[in-house]
Amino acid sequence: MSNTNPAPARGTADRALRVAVVGSGPAGVYAADLLTKSAPVASGELALSIDLFDRYPAPYGLIRYGVAPDHPRIKGIVNALHKVLDRGDIRFFGNVEYGTDLTLEDLQRHYDAVIFATGAIKDADLNIPGIELEGSFGAADFVSWYDGHPDVPREWPLEAKEIAVIGNGNVALDVARVLSKHADELLVTEIPDNVYRILKESPVTDVHVFGRRGPAQVKFTPLELRELSHSHDVDIVLYPEDFEFDEASDREIQTNNQVKTMVGTLTNWIAEQPEDLSELTASRRLHLHFLHSPVEIVDSAETPGKVAGIRFERTELDGTGNARGTGEILEYPVQAVYRAIGYFGSLLPDVEFDHRRGVIPNDGGRVLDARGAFVPGVYTTGWIKRGPVGLIGHTKGDALETIGHLLDAREDLPVAAEPAETAVVELLDRRGIEYTTWEGWLALDAHERSLGEAADHAPTHKGPVARERVKVVAREEMVGISRDGAPVTAR
Ligand code: NAP
Repeated sequence: MSNTNPAPARGTADRALRVAVVGSGPAGVYAADLLTKSAPVASGELALSIDLFDRYPAPYGLIRYGVAPDHPRIKGIVNALHKVLDRGDIRFFGNVEYGTDLTLEDLQRHYDAVIFATGAIKDADLNIPGIELEGSFGAADFVSWYDGHPDVPREWPLEAKEIAVIGNGNVALDVARVLSKHADELLVTEIPDNVYRILKESPVTDVHVFGRRGPAQVKFTPLELRELSHSHDVDIVLYPEDFEFDEASDREIQTNNQVKTMVGTLTNWIAEQPEDLSELTASRRLHLHFLHSPVEIVDSAETPGKVAGIRFERTELDGTGNARGTGEILEYPVQAVYRAIGYFGSLLPDVEFDHRRGVIPNDGGRVLDARGAFVPGVYTTGWIKRGPVGLIGHTKGDALETIGHLLDAREDLPVAAEPAETAVVELLDRRGIEYTTWEGWLALDAHERSLGEAADHAPTHKGPVARERVKVVAREEMVGISRDGAPVTAR
């Protein structure tokens, strides 16, 4: 069954509790789903209607625009989110920008409660000299590009033979893997055509990933680390001098299975590696370095303004698992640098923002104003609530906490002045907002799959493989297919 507008309110109470969720990534969908499953709602004691808004014409946020295309396991979460939105009790409005198309005042007029689940899509800053040079990139921007984000340029300058990736988190691994993989291996995935074309032309030979602490302090996860060795014709290179373990490392290895597994993987790899690195045979190499803290990106002498190298200070572990500088400076010739040192949330109009942490100030998901008082009826969940850490599944716990507070306060929520189901649709229409719907997404989804079927089979080293889908990238095209393919029923 698919969602049509207007959605019926569930439950038996006289008037529905009307909730707007801003952001249709995992955090927003989990929050909407949990709300519909929570006790007073599920028992029919409380009637409920939920509208889910997204700035993009398609749903799923981070899953569509943050997860690497060669991670179908995580993309599988989409199936679960699809089931939630396909039930028909949550309305989806895509291509609606919070703050301009709809303001907080609008939402408060039409809903009893608003939940912000806008995530984090920007790169955290790294303040070192040379960060502004041509060839220095944020990993989040690169991820947006290869995931076909509608608001980033279609071209990406992949001109470097040697590349540095700063950071030891899963995003660093994603970026290093995509940069080093042969493009044909990615063609089986949903990567947009422009991304395949540019990756195919990449002259890269060496991608270096740098962590500022040791092998027992990486923020990777075991599966993602092991996956590096699955790339065809890419050798992994490790350096014995980076394998330092302090007391804290030993404790972690003994008590934390994930760390134990990852250190085991890394030490196995280094044990299997030829002593003479010239015996490596792959045409590309992915180097993993530890105990390197970035100091400066080096400007080119021949073409000033362009990246020509990167300097690190060698670090050593201090016994607590933290690293301190040794004063030794190491320089690597690279022509591009990607910083993958974490994401950062973006400020939302009319809501307080913690500029240090990049989150909406909140207490358990209850949004706070500048004086630290609760803003009645305004909530938050996901990365914009707690910061950009944790796997997708962790957002469920977050949503549970936020929804708990919302339902506890339901008797005291400010009552929407215009709670009619059609009022927000009329408002969007009056403003000429070309919003998309769930039916529109189903049309776009079918279109992308048909593009996959029609595309030439991907020529992998295992033989030709069919493509699951080809992503539509341009916003206007997404909107056109969504709206023409599925006329909006309640306009
Ligand atoms: P992250 O896990 O927090 O890793 C950030 C890395 O950057 C850390 O190694 C950190 O080192 C390093 N770093 C921070 N500031 C630095 C600086 N000034 N200089 C050098 N290094 C610096 O962040 P993320 O990689 O962006 O990932 C965010 C979340 O998404 C994580 O929970 C991650 O697991 C998840 N994710 C999962 C997948 C997946 O495939 N499962 C894919 C992508 C993202 P320190 O540890 O020393 O601070």
